[in-house]
Amino acid sequence: MDTLATEDWVARSLRAVWHPCTQMKHHERMPLIPIARGAGPWLYDRDGRRFLDGISSWWVNLFGHANPRINAALKTQLDTLEHAMLAGCTHEPAIELAERLAALTDHTLGHAFFASDGASAVEIALKMSFHTWRNRGRAEKREFACVANSYHGETIGALGVTDVALFKDAYDPLIRHAHVVASPDARLAAPGESAADVARRALDSVRALFAARGEQLAALIVEPLVQCATGMAMHDPSYLAGLRALCDEYDVHLIADEIAVGCGRTGTFFACEQAGIWPDLLCLSKGISGGYLPLSIVLSRDAIFDAFYDDDTTRGFLHSHSYTGNPLACRAALATLDLFASDNVLAENARKSAVLRAALEPLRAHPHVRHLRQCGTLFAFDVAIDHAQAARTFSRRFFDHALQRELLLRPIGTTVYLMPPYILSDDELAWLAARTRDTLDATLADEVH
Ligand SMILES: *Cc1c(COP(=O)(O)O)cnc(C)c1O
Repeated sequence: MDTLATEDWVARSLRAVWHPCTQMKHHERMPLIPIARGAGPWLYDRDGRRFLDGISSWWVNLFGHANPRINAALKTQLDTLEHAMLAGCTHEPAIELAERLAALTDHTLGHAFFASDGASAVEIALKMSFHTWRNRGRAEKREFACVANSYHGETIGALGVTDVALFKDAYDPLIRHAHVVASPDARLAAPGESAADVARRALDSVRALFAARGEQLAALIVEPLVQCATGMAMHDPSYLAGLRALCDEYDVHLIADEIAVGCGRTGTFFACEQAGIWPDLLCLSKGISGGYLPLSIVLSRDAIFDAFYDDDTTRGFLHSHSYTGNPLACRAALATLDLFASDNVLAENARKSAVLRAALEPLRAHPHVRHLRQCGTLFAFDVAIDHAQAARTFSRRFFDHALQRELLLRPIGTTVYLMPPYILSDDELAWLAARTRDTLDATLADEVH
């Protein structure tokens, strides 16, 4: 492949493709990687350079690119049924996926509503909660609560329960804001305080809100265990148990947004399992299709489903998306669940995470590293940088230095995180840790003031 052709490819992309979450002008200086193919944890560009996908392509990929078993399942499905509408019709992949997810929740969340992306799942959960109360004659319960620094997607409804200024501020006049409760982020611990102490304090803020607005509140939405998009803020599982108890006490639905943390990311299949609780509504997306196809699912309890079950059409949940329950996406999800079932993935992940943890541990003594932390297969640390300008450009410079070291990593601000696919060998895990450290040192060495 000649270099000129690749440059032409990039130029064509920058003209015709409006890239997501990107100030397009930054690409005048920042590289755009023309991905040609993927295999396992590696992405290859048009010139044959390879990059280890250290962030699972925005947290979606679980078992590698072009996974032979998911590919085979999809090829068979493609020759059987590519799509059929899910209103008035049904098909085996949707039924089987709904049943298997219900079983994974001990049949507590026995009803699966399908959509295509995470933000849509959040919109659905919010609408379902409000509409449940309305059908029960409590239409005044129409407010929502979210946790400080939460991220639940970027459609206008989802932004209402998102608390990340960068994504939200420009659209402020369009948004119906949720109540924001205190952060349970374990990094807020004062000297001598534990993560559980921070959680307890944060729960006081929830109780105060519920005491004041419980009659008007439909639901509280939370990212269990890790608030990913804000920069991998982690909290103690007791926070979730506390939320469950308060939601029960004040008749407020608990919505668990497991879009990023579900599917084994935090060590258990669902993050909520670590707190021994189930929410009223649970949102899944990202990893559920193995990173292959857009798919999201909202799981709900009988009590919510039953509130809609009636002869009256308007008491039904009339929400729909054209590609609801797409059979190819459901098949990819079933193949993903097959891998979990046959390969002892959660136990193997625990072993691999211990390997990566040991390899990263020396970073704790690095003069610029703060709060090295882990939850399941997810690792993060904050980088202390004195100069504001250097801090502002850190993420882009780190990205660039990582690419030079065959590594795809995109820090969030000055927080570096690793969220690799579950299939790295021990050698690859050691390599990932070593290259991460090299990248950090190279980025710190070229600080521009
Ligand atoms: C990514 C994400 C979403 C939004 O999902 P999209 O598919 O990007 O719309 C919502 N909530 C959480 C916790 C996420 O990480």
